[in-house]
Amino acid sequence: MPHKTLVIGGGAAGIGAAGGVKAADPANTVVVYTDFEDVGYSPCGIPYVHGKEIDSFERLFLAQKEAYVQAGIDIHYEKHVESIDVERKRVTVQGEGEVAWDRLVIATGFDYADPGVPGGGLEGLYYVKNIRRAMEWDKVLDTAKTAVVVHATPLGVEMTTALAQRGLETHLVDPQPWALADIVDPDIIAPVQESWLELGAHLHFNTTLEAFRGERTVSSVATSDGELPADIAVVCTHKRPNISLAAQAGLMVGPTGGLVVDERMATTVADVYAAGDCAELPHGVTRLGVQGLTGSHAYAQGKVAGFNAGGGTKRYQPVYVPWGTPAGKWVIGGASFGETTATALGIPFMVGQAEGISRARYYPGVKKVKIKLLAEPVQRRLIGAQMVGQEGIKERADFLATAVKFGLTLDDLAAMENVYSPAIGALNEPIVLAAQNGLESVPHGR
Ligand SMILES: Cc1cc2nc3c(=O)[nH]c(=O)nc-3n(C[C@H](O)[C@H](O)[C@H](O)COP(=O)(O)OP(=O)(O)OC[C@H]3O[C@@H](n4cnc5c(N)ncnc54)[C@H](O)[C@@H]3O)c2cc1C
Repeated sequence: MPHKTLVIGGGAAGIGAAGGVKAADPANTVVVYTDFEDVGYSPCGIPYVHGKEIDSFERLFLAQKEAYVQAGIDIHYEKHVESIDVERKRVTVQGEGEVAWDRLVIATGFDYADPGVPGGGLEGLYYVKNIRRAMEWDKVLDTAKTAVVVHATPLGVEMTTALAQRGLETHLVDPQPWALADIVDPDIIAPVQESWLELGAHLHFNTTLEAFRGERTVSSVATSDGELPADIAVVCTHKRPNISLAAQAGLMVGPTGGLVVDERMATTVADVYAAGDCAELPHGVTRLGVQGLTGSHAYAQGKVAGFNAGGGTKRYQPVYVPWGTPAGKWVIGGASFGETTATALGIPFMVGQAEGISRARYYPGVKKVKIKLLAEPVQRRLIGAQMVGQEGIKERADFLATAVKFGLTLDDLAAMENVYSPAIGALNEPIVLAAQNGLESVPHGR
């Protein structure tokens, strides 16, 4: 029997969920509430418009509003959901009052962590998310000369690259010893940091943010490394699950701060689902909860949550987290986790690494690819990988995440077949070289 599903959130998870509800049964009613003026655009492209690699924000829109109307998805723009009543199956919407639902999908996403220093209310602090605000900030960037990027998170990495390429005097401030220190190993990020210096960026690691300073608008950023000039401060702090509504409604929050869901993306309350950056999911290797994954995870989770809310049955599996991003003049990527995380979690591992090439050595445009494979030391099953190169990183990250998921060993990878075609692949695939090197470090006969 058709249901009425409300979706709170118009990001990747919310739009995925709305489509999932309709896919389960086209007769279902689905209503989406979003604070924003738009849905169906890729926030992921915003840093590249700021960096002038994409020529307009309009290119980031994936669908027009009319397309959702035609798909039977009723989207209420600029409508804030103020509360959820799970007993009476109602939400209260600003300007609309109480709205009833049969099923609810919470896809409220993330907020950037509060930098927690004086001056947070000044103008000139840019939190990159809403495309309309990005369009306005891009005009500010036309006249800005100096920028401070606060924290070397994935977005901080992209914004540092974009602003340095755009010609701003760009300072990156982070309390940790290297960029992306929570996820990326220092040897993988080292060439990226060198390339930022070549682009003219100023790197302030092991540096604490102390205050944003200025009269009404920020003009400098105080740090433990001194005062940095700032016509604009781009706040790229860690993503935090936006769960205040759900927590007030009594849904269970897990140790990472994300909403607890089962494999159907169902929360701890009947008929309420959650998806995207507001939820936490088990990591496939450690089975520990992780949150703050990527837009592709959010969209896929949304589709599962919506399909189940709409009366279907789908399961979302533990995550093996393929990831990748351009960074400076390089592309970095990986799957699962690297040495730093494995060490922090006390997970035993062995390493196989190699520096290979992306094409035949004689073919124009050939690039270096550094690959590091982590395997558990007894069966030599792959548990993680990290890479730095300039091409082919995304495809290797996707493949290696699948290799971790299906339990491939270093022995399997060392004997892997590979494409050799001068313009697109070398005779010796770097993954194979890394696996072989790892095996050579094992005492003979083991
Ligand atoms: C600048 C930027 C770059 C990114 N780059 C990448 C990338 O390269 N690759 C990648 O995979 N992902 C990228 N992402 C995606 C990102 O990291 C997240 O994983 C993704 O946005 C999560 O989607 P979501 O739908 O869960 O949440 P969000 O995108 O946070 O959307 C949350 C939605 O909920 C709405 N909302 C929240 N509370 C309420 C309320 N009370 N009432 C009404 N509406 C509400 C908001 O208006 C919004 O529509 C990027 C995101 C940004 C902002």
